[in-house]
Amino acid sequence: MSIARFWRETPRRYNLGGSKCGRCGTVYFPPRAVCPACPHHRETLAQMAPFQLGGEGTVFSYTVVHEAAEGFEMQVPYVVALVKTVEGPILTGQVVDVDPASVRIGLSVRATFRKLREEGKAGVIHYGYKFAPVEPGNGSALPPRRTERAVASAPTGADRTTA
Ligand SMILES: [Zn+2]
Repeated sequence: MSIARFWRETPRRYNLGGSKCGRCGTVYFPPRAVCPACPHHRETLAQMAPFQLGGEGTVFSYTVVHEAAEGFEMQVPYVVALVKTVEGPILTGQVVDVDPASVRIGLSVRATFRKLREEGKAGVIHYGYKFAPVEPGNGSALPPRRTERAVASAPTGADRTTA
């Protein structure tokens, strides 16, 4: 990504600034100019307002990445998840501060702003949101029972046969 494009996108990278439809209440991230959920979405053009997402949500789906993209080699294995925010939009991001093997669907996470990568000789450092687990204490403090876990983290589970 070019530096110019990165900085154009920076407000939402840092602030999770989305938009909310004043007619039906649907929240969008990235922000949208009109609301596709409303039947006459062109009429919502003047009703979309900036909306700040809180960054809290739950893991909706995830993948453990073992082969890193360029610039991410030091972080393998890492987890990329779809996180369903409490406001509704689903965000994609890396899950940090957690053993990849213990990430599970439904895990409560919160967006946190971290270094994404450094770029070459210029030393440009990009920051953006990642997700970290929310500390237990909101009801279910019991750790997950590993013996009962499904094979949700198996990346290629097609046609598996039992030995
Ligand atoms: Zn709407």
